[in-house]
Amino acid sequence: MINIECIQAAQGDCIWVEYGKDQDSLHRILIDGGTSDTYKRLKKRIKKLKPNERHFDLLVITHIDADHIAGILKLFEKDGLGITFSDIWFNGYKHLGKSRIKGVVQGELLSDYLEQPHLNWNKAFKGKAVSVDKRKKFKSIKLPGGMKLTLFSPTQKALSDLKPHWFKEAKKAGLLVDNKLPYKKDLDTCPSRSKRLSRRMLPDIDALAKTSFEPDSSLTNGSSIAFLAEYAGKKMLFTGDAYATILLDSIQRYLPECEPLYLDLFKIPHHGSDGNISKKLLERIRCSTYLVSTNGAYHKHPDKIAIARIIKYGGHKPDLYFNYLSKYNEIWSNTALQEKYQYNAHYPTDEQTSIKISFKKMQQ
Ligand SMILES: [Zn+2]
Repeated sequence: MINIECIQAAQGDCIWVEYGKDQDSLHRILIDGGTSDTYKRLKKRIKKLKPNERHFDLLVITHIDADHIAGILKLFEKDGLGITFSDIWFNGYKHLGKSRIKGVVQGELLSDYLEQPHLNWNKAFKGKAVSVDKRKKFKSIKLPGGMKLTLFSPTQKALSDLKPHWFKEAKKAGLLVDNKLPYKKDLDTCPSRSKRLSRRMLPDIDALAKTSFEPDSSLTNGSSIAFLAEYAGKKMLFTGDAYATILLDSIQRYLPECEPLYLDLFKIPHHGSDGNISKKLLERIRCSTYLVSTNGAYHKHPDKIAIARIIKYGGHKPDLYFNYLSKYNEIWSNTALQEKYQYNAHYPTDEQTSIKISFKKMQQ
């Protein structure tokens, strides 16, 4: 079985993955910790585990933006939960490759923490950068319990491009000890549910999907760790805020015969921003289940163009899973729209603080 819980993380990501033969033999991966406030929900989720079960086979901190790392910083800071990790993937300053800037970085919170001898930092990469080497063949990483991971992003170039901007970006994310900034407050973006949309107000998906693609240029997003996860015949693509271009390039090199990449789940990069999901990328993938993580705060994600592209180019009757119902995604709940364009939209209930996708029927 596989359970994917996309925990509500305001505008960020916090994804809890469990896999195993049965409920008693589950393995765990945690991908990102969301915003600072997300820690409350993450802590609650961890506390649901018995103390002897509080182990993760892998923690992935995809990149240094605050909506992905702030909850993890708090988790490390407040660690009284007795959590252990077999491996932690994170690209710190020392992993960003050669550049003219010399000197030792001090006081960068996450790296200082990960330097502790009892922690395994990028163990699967022998302590080096978690990055795709385009000159070499893809090498899969096997986790305990049989999960297979194949890295699709970042490239070494994306990491070295970030290097000269690291201090500025780390400061923005509240990662530097000396410049610890207050985190942005989590904004509530509750929808106005009573409003009924008339047919005339419904978005024109065909027109939106045709909008020309303007790729994301954020250097931190480009440094995102993204990977294909395979377990018992199921394939999932977790992407952080990765570039569509890097993902597509990796898929093309992974499957050079032009065959599509079949997926059971695609976590849409960068919270459904239109700069991170292209027609070309969607056409190379065959997937029926798409996951979008955001409440729309600050950036009004997901963009209508991105969702329109998924509906139009994302295969037959795709299922869209949102981890919030917000004023920026409620439009997709419209039944006339779902009927007309043949897709299904799923949202958590008022009581839920995550959206869960489970795969029960598995290959042996
Ligand atoms: Zn993000």
